[in-house]
Amino acid sequence: MHRPPLKHCRVCGTAVAYRLPDDGDTKERAVCPACHTVHYENPLNVVGTVPVWGENGAQVLLCKRNIEPRWGKWTLPAGFMEMGETTAQGAARETDEEAGAQFEMQGLFAIMNVVRVGQVHLFYRAQLLSAEFSPGHETIEARLFTEAEIPWDEIAFHTVKHTLERYFSDRRKGSFGIHTVDIV
Ligand SMILES: [Zn+2]
Repeated sequence: MHRPPLKHCRVCGTAVAYRLPDDGDTKERAVCPACHTVHYENPLNVVGTVPVWGENGAQVLLCKRNIEPRWGKWTLPAGFMEMGETTAQGAARETDEEAGAQFEMQGLFAIMNVVRVGQVHLFYRAQLLSAEFSPGHETIEARLFTEAEIPWDEIAFHTVKHTLERYFSDRRKGSFGIHTVDIV
């Protein structure tokens, strides 16, 4: 999911140089020496859900990845937000695509700045309406885990681990907050 620095101009294909643009901008940008296009690169949004089932949300749905990176590791349903959708719509779409789950969207649960790779991850809570799943091609298996069953050493991403830890911690307290986490 890491985005390498831009190498070639998106307009004319010439190799770009990273430098301060001539317009007074104070950040280095990928500038094209041929057509002078300045390329602005900004963080991408990753949106997903914490789908829960059972008494007081005792079980969480995880998906075993059938794609790289982290093939075979477990994750919450999540992926890159698409143009033309809201964050909640994107999270719901990913949950449908990756798990084939029936659910109702609930409140925003976690906002995570993954500064090193230029991403912002947003997770919403979602109430499952059925424990039957029909995962798509990106998922080997979709299944429910209680807190004790979570395969902590087999979780695909730090953001997912942080989100699950906070979910079970809030569940024990009996109320769900909105968590902001900076991963630098
Ligand atoms: Zn160019």
